[in-house]
Amino acid sequence: MTESSRIKDSQDEPALQCESVTKIYPAPGTMFSNREGLIVVQDVSLEVPKKRCVALVGESGSGKSTLARMLLGLEQPTQGSISLFGQAMHTLSPRSVAKLVQPVFQDPAGSLNPKHTIRRILEGPLLSQAVRDRTKRQLRIEKLMELTQIPRKILDRKPHFLSGGQQQRIVIARALILDPQIVILDEPTSSLDVSIQAQILRLLKALQESLNLTYLFITHDLAVVNAIADEVAVMYKGQIVEHGPCEQVLHAPLHPYTRELKGASLSIAPGRRPVEAT
Ligand code: ADP
Ligand code: MG
Repeated sequence: MTESSRIKDSQDEPALQCESVTKIYPAPGTMFSNREGLIVVQDVSLEVPKKRCVALVGESGSGKSTLARMLLGLEQPTQGSISLFGQAMHTLSPRSVAKLVQPVFQDPAGSLNPKHTIRRILEGPLLSQAVRDRTKRQLRIEKLMELTQIPRKILDRKPHFLSGGQQQRIVIARALILDPQIVILDEPTSSLDVSIQAQILRLLKALQESLNLTYLFITHDLAVVNAIADEVAVMYKGQIVEHGPCEQVLHAPLHPYTRELKGASLSIAPGRRPVEAT
């Protein structure tokens, strides 16, 4: 059985699953051993069902980005296992992982090679998957420009000529160009102006619906959670301390940290509503 047919056969599984995942970094100035390491993610188990959006919230330094990097296959867990559609991450090649799950990070300028044109940036993932037919690549780029509402005239420009919002649209287009089923968004709107944040959030929501995407959406903004997520998991000091439907977690938080987070977020209002500004 080929890798891709195995993946298709396991569509009943959650899109993303991690079981008892721990990440330990060497403590500064020490030789690495588990005992003297810095535990950044501790015994995290999380499932993201297909076509759903699970938000991951938590204060800075709680281990969200480290967990995201492991779910993208960019780092190995120290302990525990990660699966994509029921397939253990370590059994999948980096190319197969890239076709299934793609990231959108916080800082678009830092995610885009300043020396490359937008066309070359969008072509990159297609070339890495050996899409040799130039017309096929061009058609795919045009399709993604249309989906992310990128004007054609910017294709031959370099990223620094674009606004932050346009740059983030390019990052989103690049993330979707291989037609992945899962996108891990690590604070994708935090570096943008407030009015642009709302536009990008609306775009992400529309793309999730039209392309049936599964999102893990990392944010520290509960108004963003309220606008886009079905479920929310709360991370505190490397652990998931609360996870449930948004209505439940946002409006009747159980964990003291979640209550504190809610108290700090003055913009949150009861009930689900579109977010205009965050
Ligand atoms: P968050 O995204 O929730 O802000 P991070 O996952 O970025 O949290 O970081 C969690 C903790 O792990 C922080 O204390 C950070 O300093 C530490 N950390 C992250 N990456 C590394 C690394 N490569 N080596 C050592 N420590 C790291
Ligand atoms: Mg982070």
